[in-house]
Amino acid sequence: MEESKDLAIGLDLGGTKILAALISREGEILGEFECKTSTGKQSDTTANIIFAINSLLAETVADRSRIMGIGVASAGIIDSEQKIIHYAKNIGLENFPIGTILEGNFQLPVKLSNDANAAAIGEWIWGAGKGKQNVIYITVSTGVGSGIISNGQLMTGINDSAGEFGHITISHDGILCECGNRGCLEKYASGSAINMRANQLLKNGETSSLLPIIEKGLVVTNKEVATAAKQGDVFSIQLLKEAGEYLGMGVVSLIHLFNTEAVVFGGGVMNMSAFILPSIKETVAKYGIAKMVEKVEIKKSVLGNKAGVIGATGLFYLNREEQLTMNK
Ligand SMILES: [Zn+2]
Repeated sequence: MEESKDLAIGLDLGGTKILAALISREGEILGEFECKTSTGKQSDTTANIIFAINSLLAETVADRSRIMGIGVASAGIIDSEQKIIHYAKNIGLENFPIGTILEGNFQLPVKLSNDANAAAIGEWIWGAGKGKQNVIYITVSTGVGSGIISNGQLMTGINDSAGEFGHITISHDGILCECGNRGCLEKYASGSAINMRANQLLKNGETSSLLPIIEKGLVVTNKEVATAAKQGDVFSIQLLKEAGEYLGMGVVSLIHLFNTEAVVFGGGVMNMSAFILPSIKETVAKYGIAKMVEKVEIKKSVLGNKAGVIGATGLFYLNREEQLTMNK
């Protein structure tokens, strides 16, 4: 690695926004530019991405020769070798050659990862998993996903799909999932699942401070569940505790499989971590093999919603030597 190249551009392609940021080797954000994700044509998305990076470069005074490349974190199914986003439903992308587009427009090396893996790399190099060699990052938002660092290496699998934690089966005849299977974890513990269950139970007449919302014919949001929980609403607290139990059951399996040192939780649902995280920890302590789970740190993400964009630049530091000097 050339010492003079101490900056990288991170690009986070999500369902609602495109975020480009200039990141230092220390994982600091030196500048950022955000625009909305176009749901229209791929050519619009291409234009938006190029616009976001150009705007970022114009706003930051950085000497371009210091930039080592562009790291991309994308939702959906990707091919990191070919640098293609095969399919990202919520961004409306199919067979999108992000590598060719960026390399052609900016004459910089490009690396691509899925968003959960990028966030895992970010938390591992600069965040809650710093200094450890066995870290699992779990994102809980609309769905549930994960990125696995095992013995100091990111596990990608043969087609970048390792870590589909949301689709492990936790109930053999459970709720039908979009993947076609039944009883997937994310049907019980994701933001959507929490929301669906809250509304269902309230419609069945559970006692809660949220009941008037349902009685007015409205739908309860997770933000309202979070507020109610903070105000001591037993129903909401119990609902979040249950989600934590499901996540905890899944985490026990991950720890048993990977002999993990730290499990880091991120994603929007972790805004309610005060209620979910203790429940995850209790469940892991209760069901895990004592020797394997007693020293595992289970904690909240440090980089928050910037884990993906920061971690995308970490793709340039995955070389083992580089990592050993950084990850101290
Ligand atoms: Zn599934």
